[in-house]
Amino acid sequence: MSSLKGKVAVITGGNSGIGKATAQLFVQEGAQVIITGRRPDVVDNAVREIGAGASGFSGDVADIDFHDRLAKEIRNRFGALDVYMANAGIINLTGSDNVKPQEYDQHFAVNSRGVFFGVQAMAPLIRDGGNIIVTSSLAATKVLPQHTLYAGSKAALAAFARNWAIEFKERRIRVNILSPGPVETEILGKLGITEADRPALDAHMANTIPAGRYGRPDELARAALLLASNDFVNGVELHVDGGMSLV
Ligand code: NAP
Repeated sequence: MSSLKGKVAVITGGNSGIGKATAQLFVQEGAQVIITGRRPDVVDNAVREIGAGASGFSGDVADIDFHDRLAKEIRNRFGALDVYMANAGIINLTGSDNVKPQEYDQHFAVNSRGVFFGVQAMAPLIRDGGNIIVTSSLAATKVLPQHTLYAGSKAALAAFARNWAIEFKERRIRVNILSPGPVETEILGKLGITEADRPALDAHMANTIPAGRYGRPDELARAALLLASNDFVNGVELHVDGGMSLV
């Protein structure tokens, strides 16, 4: 398996869940992968778990300087990169009436602004023919309870990605969106849902998702690999949601 042999990939939020599973698969496919996340210990553990081919760089995507520091690191260590996956994201489920300005700003700072300035910093380093993957969410296109703020912060990504695909076309840099439905990752513990309410959520998901279950991170990783490695796939939003967008 060598569809990414010799390639360099950066995955934000690569220390956990979908990002980590994608980093694992990309390394298996021959890439050198730099994973990021705010928690240095979790980044280090993920690097150890993934093994040779992975390295880490800690920091907050909401911090604009972080992207410049990461770009400098990539330039110094690798000279350039081939795949940039802007995947880090946060969610706190809540009704719009409860959203405080700080929570609003945090969602947009991570989920939208963090992606925009990440791409701004990385694009000059992406080799011609490389690609960008942006992790959005089913929530960006489907109304889900308590998702309004999160949905808004992810919805910007589709517009960014469409425009980038054209902005970067002279360099044949493709830009695609990975849009997961509910996937069993640590994020499910960060929704603001109590432990007591979790079984009800799980039962609701099993009943609602046509696949009858949550997605697995490795299933999203395989979709990310398709986007990263198929040179004729450009400007798509790939829904990997067990069919949930249909119901
Ligand atoms: P996860 O396991 O919680 O991973 C989220 C990752 O983002 C972690 O590595 C986290 O690392 C990183 N992160 C969060 N805030 C950050 C910040 N400010 N700066 C840098 N890194 C940050 O969740 P996941 O499910 O894999 O989520 C990955 C992406 O998929 C997210 O964009 C999420 O919105 C999207 N998504 C997930 C689902 C789902 O059901 N799982 C559904 C739709 C979309 P640190 O905490 O160490 O910073």
